[in-house]
Amino acid sequence: MKLVTFDTGKNPRIGIWLEAQKVILDLSLVQPDLPRTMIAFLEAGEPALQRAREALAAPLPTALIPFDQVVLLAPIPSPGKLLCMGHNYMDHTATSPGELPEFPNLFLKASSCVVGPGSPVLLTGASQAVDYEGEFCFVIGKRASRVNQAQAMEHVAGYTLLNDVSARDYANRVSQWMLGKSFDTFAPLGPALVTKDEVPDPHQLELVMKINGEERQHSNTRNLIFSIPFLIAHISQVLTLEPGDVVSTGTPSGSGAGRKPPVFLQPGDEMRLTVEKIGELFNRVAAAA
Ligand code: ZN
Repeated sequence: MKLVTFDTGKNPRIGIWLEAQKVILDLSLVQPDLPRTMIAFLEAGEPALQRAREALAAPLPTALIPFDQVVLLAPIPSPGKLLCMGHNYMDHTATSPGELPEFPNLFLKASSCVVGPGSPVLLTGASQAVDYEGEFCFVIGKRASRVNQAQAMEHVAGYTLLNDVSARDYANRVSQWMLGKSFDTFAPLGPALVTKDEVPDPHQLELVMKINGEERQHSNTRNLIFSIPFLIAHISQVLTLEPGDVVSTGTPSGSGAGRKPPVFLQPGDEMRLTVEKIGELFNRVAAAA
């Protein structure tokens, strides 16, 4: 299932995106007592997922809303935690095995900068070096505390995409990246939470990021240095991962900062991130008012 959070001008709520029919199945209309937010829905666990699948098996025609009548929000508009990491792709050009990092370089990006697909990324003028980072994320479905790698995937609800927009000047002038990663609007997330049953192997997905139609990043999640089970085991030794928490697996080479000379985002730029089986996340850059 492709689970989405959407709005029609009333209350944001969750639904199932039926791409071929170009409609969204409004779960609040077919299963009114199911939770209306993605985090509460995930907390309700397998019984809630099962009821969503039943609704999908025989969709009530009056609960189908044409896609052009909704605004898609981020599938999890305000995740409890948005964890990201630096350097997690083994790019054929770059690194030899001896140079691979021993530990994932994890950081928190403020959840307050999450925006939905189609929402603008706003440049305030404070940073002169704003950059894109196309990333594949996993979303926690079941609380994970000190789990081992063999059990780790049981805690994953599914997958989504993040453009980890980054102000390089802010991130690099101090030892912590957090502030440069956390400008308002710098976390386009979505378009959907694709449940894990639809993705037999999350470590075998093509990732492409295009800027203004030009391919800038292209890799495959098979090149991840630290796998999803490793990351869940590693992180959950320290902190409890909760339903709706998003962990982004890092970006491959090809960001604007790595180009010679560096090229940073400008108002009007169009960013289109595509990951096989997960979807396409499109956002435009705009100047803040
Ligand atoms: Zn990143």
